Amino acid sequence: MKTSLFDLYKIGVGPSSSHTMGPMRAARRFAAELAETNLLPQTARVQCDLYGSLALTGIGHGTDRAILLGLTGEEAATLDPDTIEDKLARIRSTDSLALLGLAPIPFHEPDDLLFHRETIYPPGAVTQHPNGVRFTAFDADGRELLSATMFSIGGGFIVNDGEDSATMAAAVTPVPYSFASGAELLSMANEAKLTITELMLENETALRMQQTGIARDEAATQVRRDILRIWNVMNGCISRGMRTEGILPGGLNVRRRAPRLAHRLRSQGSVDPLAPLDWITVYAMAVNEENAAGGRVVTAPTNGAAGVIPAVARYYLEFHEDADEEGLIRYFLASAAIGVLYKENASISGAEVGCQGEVGVACSMAAGGLVAALGGANEAVEHAAEIAMEHNLGMTCDPIGGLVQIPCIERNATAAVKAVQAARIAMNETEGHKVSLDQVIRTMYQTGLDMQSRYKETSLAGLALNVIEC
Ligand code: SF4
Repeated sequence: MKTSLFDLYKIGVGPSSSHTMGPMRAARRFAAELAETNLLPQTARVQCDLYGSLALTGIGHGTDRAILLGLTGEEAATLDPDTIEDKLARIRSTDSLALLGLAPIPFHEPDDLLFHRETIYPPGAVTQHPNGVRFTAFDADGRELLSATMFSIGGGFIVNDGEDSATMAAAVTPVPYSFASGAELLSMANEAKLTITELMLENETALRMQQTGIARDEAATQVRRDILRIWNVMNGCISRGMRTEGILPGGLNVRRRAPRLAHRLRSQGSVDPLAPLDWITVYAMAVNEENAAGGRVVTAPTNGAAGVIPAVARYYLEFHEDADEEGLIRYFLASAAIGVLYKENASISGAEVGCQGEVGVACSMAAGGLVAALGGANEAVEHAAEIAMEHNLGMTCDPIGGLVQIPCIERNATAAVKAVQAARIAMNETEGHKVSLDQVIRTMYQTGLDMQSRYKETSLAGLALNVIEC
């Protein structure tokens, strides 16, 4: 097991984990490498080349902005969204930026930040992923000092060119229950007489002990505390989205809808028995409208899909009488176990497998998590996750104008409702099921690889092609 719950749930900023958070992290990593190799004082110019999906939808996804901020040393987790515009205005008005906040160099976007829209992979790269970025530093005489090619593989994760799964496997931290498939997860949990939640807590506690050297009880306490911190950021995002009116940036003139819908639901009272579904819609849209506005969000497992998991969590807290903090912790641990399976056996990148790998995965994680929160059996957790993905298979990524708005915002709302339905189907089932979670994960991945690249975060087909931007 290479992925922790805290890799899947990361605090950051919108609108995209693969196109904003990942490139910001890559740019910062490159600047840090210049500093570590003592090349920073000689660096007179930095060039950034974007390829494939990063080039095609980078403007709409804020990749250009992320690169500038990353080079100056900003990190998505600590960056205050309210300061972004000022920081960018300073760079753009002076045509210069300070690498890691230390070494000021000229930086003129059209010359130093290049979008290669016709080229999918960086020339000469070993890794073949459609989210490639290359940084090159030059001295005052134009001599190359350092070059690095990286790939943003979804959910804010970055790999260097040539870094394959074998290399990454070498860095695996041992955990007590290192499961590689849904079947192994179930058999390990059942043999140890643990719930999936308890198994994940054992793993996360072991990881924390290795990272910090603290004792077991303290590590377990920290893991639980940090899960609740993640939830507080998510919940804060829901609240901000529910009270913030206005038009989303980017030029599509998409109006925020969560505040109005919330207001209407409140004024209606509780007469409509289906009102909980509308509230799920409000929660999900609130998060995704915040994400589209570049606000503070948590990847779950990506930014584009960031509304599903918070929406189902809030639904659990608001509409289940027995809901409590323990149930919430179970929700996040079980959903993370499912997310690990997708991350390690398939992909959570829309540019690689379409939206089934983003919103589809979030839906699957939320469905399994909700069963765990409600005290369902391990088999029902696996079954719910399977059902949820089965009915997201083949979902393409075709955002209009390259913005994470249409269809993304509504899509999160419908997926959150679907997750609740999948959980209910699984919990009402008394017999086994035909399709396993492993089979549906494999199917999702194969379907994604077979999907034409114009349906994978390029905005060259689907809604992006058939709807006129206005
Ligand atoms: S369509 Fe799905 S994968 Fe594509 S940008 Fe929107 S949310 Fe992300």
